[in-house]
Order: sequence, then C-alpha cells, then structure tokens
Amino acid sequence: KLHNTILELKGNIRVFCRVRPLLPDDGIGTDMVVSYPTSTEALGRGIELVQSGQKYSFTFDKVFNHEASQQDVFTEISQLVQSALDGYKVCIFAYGQTGSGKTYTMMGRPDASELKGLIPRSLEQIFQISQSLKDQGWKYNMQASVLEIYNETIRDLLSSNRSYGTDQTRTENGVPGRQYTIKHDANGNTHVSDLTIVDVTSVYEISSLLQQAAHSRSVGRTQMNEQSSRSHFVFTLRICGINEKTEQQVQGVLNLIDLAGSERLSRSGATGDRLKETQAINKSLSSLSDVIFALAKKEEHVPFRNSKLTYLLQPCLGGDSKTLMFVNMSPDPSSTNESLCSLRFAARVN
Ligand code: ADP
Ligand code: MG
Repeated sequence: KLHNTILELKGNIRVFCRVRPLLPDDGIGTDMVVSYPTSTEALGRGIELVQSGQKYSFTFDKVFNHEASQQDVFTEISQLVQSALDGYKVCIFAYGQTGSGKTYTMMGRPDASELKGLIPRSLEQIFQISQSLKDQGWKYNMQASVLEIYNETIRDLLSSNRSYGTDQTRTENGVPGRQYTIKHDANGNTHVSDLTIVDVTSVYEISSLLQQAAHSRSVGRTQMNEQSSRSHFVFTLRICGINEKTEQQVQGVLNLIDLAGSERLSRSGATGDRLKETQAINKSLSSLSDVIFALAKKEEHVPFRNSKLTYLLQPCLGGDSKTLMFVNMSPDPSSTNESLCSLRFAARVN
C-alpha cells in the first residue's frame, strides 16, 4: 500500500520536518527504514518511512536530515522571524513525540553557542535588526511573557511568587488566586490576566528570562523519559515599533511554542494522573491540528475555542498571520509508530 501524501497547505502555513540523528540510547531494530534527503542534499522535501514492507511517503515544505545544523535550520526561518518586526503575528511550533528533538530545535543546548536553538537565535536577530533600524527612525518596545499550558491550565513561568519543582508542589493555577483568564481585544491583542509581562531591552535580559522559564517547566515521569515534557511551552514577544520620522507604527507578535510530547497512551504506560495528562495533551494537539487544517482549507468555522492553546493563540493563527510547524522525528526504530503518527498529524491524512 502506498501512501503518497502531498502537503501543499495554502496561505501562510508551512510545515517543516526535522529528523534528529540516531543517539546511543536509541533502540536497535530492523523494522523501520526512514529515508530522507542524503548528506549531499541536507535539505529536501520528501520523506519516506518503510514499516513491515509498507512504504509511506510524505512531502513537506522542507525536510531537514540528521546532519542539518541549528544554523541551517535558522537560516530557513530567519525571514519569518523578521516579519514579526515588520508587524506580522508569527507562530512557530515544534511537534513530535518526547525525545524527537523539539526542545533541541526550539531552545537548543546551552553547552555550545553553535547548538543554540531557534528561540535564542530568533531573539538575537530581532534585537540586532531593531538596533540597526534606529538610524531610520525606528524605536521598538518589546515585552516578553512565558507560560505553559498543563492539563488545560495556564501557568506563568515568569512569576516570582510561585514554587517551582515537581508537579506535586503545584496548586491548580500555579499561584493560588490567579486566574490567567484569556481575553482578546478588538485590536487583536491578547491579554492573560495576572500573567507576568516583562519589558525587555536586550538579548541578555531575554536569556535570563528564558533560563528562569526553562527551569520552571513542568516535567513528569513516564516510562519513556524521566524528563518528558507534559506541557506546552509558549514564549511570546510583543513588538511595538514606531518611526519617529514617518510616524508609521507596527505591532508584531512572535510566538515560539515547544509542544507537549505527542506520544500515545499505550507507549507511555500511563495510568491515573498521567492518563489524565495524556488525554489533555492529546485533546489540545488534535484541536491544534483541527484549527490549522480549518485555516489551511479556509473554512468558515475555525474551532479555536476547543483548547486553551488554540484560544490563546487565536489572533496569531488566523488572518494574515504566519504559522510554521516543525515536525520533529526520531530515527529510532522503536519509534516507528509514533513517527508515522507525527507525519500523519502533519500531513493530516489520519
Ligand atoms: P524532545 O524535546 O522532543 O523531548 P529533545 O530536544 O530533548 O527532545 O531531544 C532528545 C535528545 O536528542 C536530546 O539529548 C537532544 O540533545 C538530542 N537531539 C535532538 N535533536 C538533535 C539534533 N538535531 N542533533 C543532535 N542531537 C539532537
Ligand atoms: Mg522537550
């Protein structure tokens, strides 16, 4: 059986696939062969997955193979990041099972500067370019917020008076008495009550915010990965620019989202609270898929309200906003089914 899926989403939605290298801890097996652009062609568009003699083919806007560097990936998105400075609303997501490379792609690793992910790279670029536009009269105000959505509940990752650590120490909303109610105003601006909003004027300030946020991210324990991320991580930078010479104004938003692991129930061996978590994750990921699919097909009704994540991002997903989804993939043979699910999610054939 041949699945030949051409993904040609219309409008401002693009999907990139990134396959991480095989790691020492990956399982060994012979059941799956993933083929994607070879080393001479680090970037292509097609990916094939062969499982038990069946071949599944997918096409994306771009496919990065295991040799693609963080810089290679950033080069392909820097234009999109730049458009937030031009006044666009931008969302960049990383989707995939736990261990597939989402956090590596978004945040990267702190141990070497070439391993920095696209969040720090994007912010560096934004500050650099905003500085260079000063000569032309542009002045920018930037505000950052970082939150996570865990079990359909928003938590502020920059709040100083919440306790961090394991999920046992948490109260329902992270901080007692805080509601984090989402409201959108007529200008398409989103307000989350009680959420910490920080004025940022330098890359240095942003990196310390990111460190604080990354540290306080919700982690849970499953059989798959001790540090498996069970929450959606949403970094938002609001950019207001005004040109003192021309009085021109722009308002852009850059949302960078490291989604919760997309693995299914059986694989993570979830019961009790973990089962509830997984169900909440599955619900919000499928809502995200529904929203993106409806937008791509230009359907009249877009079901933004079906999950916290899609409702929060509503003004940044519709209209003339721009969306990029990374589908992260593990070449680990024991991940075949999850990989296939991820590709199908992105190609929306299931
Ligand atoms: P996820 O966030 O999806 O759970 P991670 O980003 O934590 O996955 O990646 C899992 C492991 O794989 C980490 O040790 C990470 O450093 C490594 N890794 C992921 N992508 C790459 C890559 N492109 N190159 C090298 N190592 C990678
Ligand atoms: Mg992660």
